[in-house]
Amino acid sequence: MRMSRYFLPVLKEDPAEAAIVSHRLMLRAGMIKQSSAGIYSWLPMGYKVLRKIEDIVHEEQQKAGHMPMLMPTIQSADLWRESGRYDDYGEEMLRIKDRHDRDMLFTPTAEELITDIFRSHVSSYKDLPLTLYQIQWKFRDERRPRFGVMRGREFYMKDGYNFDLTKEDALHAYNRHLVSYLRTYERMGLQAIPMRADSGPIGGDDTHEFLVLADTGESEVFYDSAVTDLTFGDREIDFDDVDQCQSIMEEFTTKYARTDETHDEALFNEVPEERRRTARGIEVGQIFYFGTKYSDAMNAKVQGPDGKPVAVHMGSHGIGVSRLLGAIIEASHDDKGIIWPEGVTPYHVGIVNLKQGDEEADAACEQLYKEFTAAGLEPLYDDRKERAGGKFATMDLIGLPWRITVGPRGLKNGVVELTSRKTGESTEMTPAEAVARVKDIYAGA
Ligand code: ATP
Ligand code: MG
Repeated sequence: MRMSRYFLPVLKEDPAEAAIVSHRLMLRAGMIKQSSAGIYSWLPMGYKVLRKIEDIVHEEQQKAGHMPMLMPTIQSADLWRESGRYDDYGEEMLRIKDRHDRDMLFTPTAEELITDIFRSHVSSYKDLPLTLYQIQWKFRDERRPRFGVMRGREFYMKDGYNFDLTKEDALHAYNRHLVSYLRTYERMGLQAIPMRADSGPIGGDDTHEFLVLADTGESEVFYDSAVTDLTFGDREIDFDDVDQCQSIMEEFTTKYARTDETHDEALFNEVPEERRRTARGIEVGQIFYFGTKYSDAMNAKVQGPDGKPVAVHMGSHGIGVSRLLGAIIEASHDDKGIIWPEGVTPYHVGIVNLKQGDEEADAACEQLYKEFTAAGLEPLYDDRKERAGGKFATMDLIGLPWRITVGPRGLKNGVVELTSRKTGESTEMTPAEAVARVKDIYAGA
């Protein structure tokens, strides 16, 4: 992408409405624009990162054997009356009437609809286990939408649903989700700690939330600092392997880590004092096992091995895809702007031409642009006739992890400069070396 042709409405001033850094930086970097309270347009730069995050979620879900699908955002109230949640959900549910005066709603989640699909098409235990998921817009009429995309009213969420014959199988599905979520967040450069949580309106007993530690988080959390030493890394996972999933789940959930809803002071005090931490966290996902709550209410049964009908065991599993942009920025920024982790960066490398119009500098930039593109990487080339200082400030604000600076003086000696956004460290090298270095970095990312 060439900056001269891009739609990147960068703001010079800090927007007054932004109370936290991620919101401020997303507005300043021209990623989003509020259209009404808690409802945003995703401008090209924001949309690009949203898609990157969505791609990672899709890839990791499918590695775990879960099947993508798509359900409508507007649903009939009837199914929600069947489960009892039409009345229970309260004011967070956006209720709509169609022209025939029928009650409709904008989906806040989709347990009812997926259970209806399931009961219409699955009748035998032989078709289990089954896990279906979607990434779709949700609407919750939050009392206090705030912090930009972190607590929107309209937000983008991955919601997945497992259907299993027995509780044991459903608990494997739960563990499988936990394991695949760990890898999903790590690929985004995030440490998201699974914490024992409260189930809220979804219902059920077993649930973990995934929290990213950040001072601006809305949840108060309590944990054993040893949990922050755990990393998932690139282990090989066989998602059908019940024992492997169980043992990883235990590795990541036995140490004390709870939100305020389930915090237990006595248990917490068993953690050695020097490892006890109280902090704030951003919830970026949650997994639930709720047994037969919905299958009982909605009569979702399959024929069991003995020929008798049994209610299926279910769970649901969410990832806050749009909230993740805010969470990643909260976890990775400095006073100049965003610092994108390599896994989600909108463009792989920025090219800054210090003297646009200089024949040699222009040609060197064009050549770099061509080579990165040919290597399957996406460069963002600042080809505007602007002062170098302004170009650097924009690059720092939008946060690409790597920048190549090209100018006539360097080119005289045959070199350009490669700069890390994170460390600020610059190294001179030939353009060919710079291309090779950046290619290497992303081959490993
Ligand atoms: P919260 O406690 O933050 O209101 P929740 O527990 O009600 O969230 P879930 O039903 O677990 O949310 O939804 C799955 C995920 O969707 C959450 O973990 C969160 O990351 C994201 N999410 C929920 N509500 C919002 C919102 N209003 N704006 C953006 N993301 C949200
Ligand atoms: Mg939740």
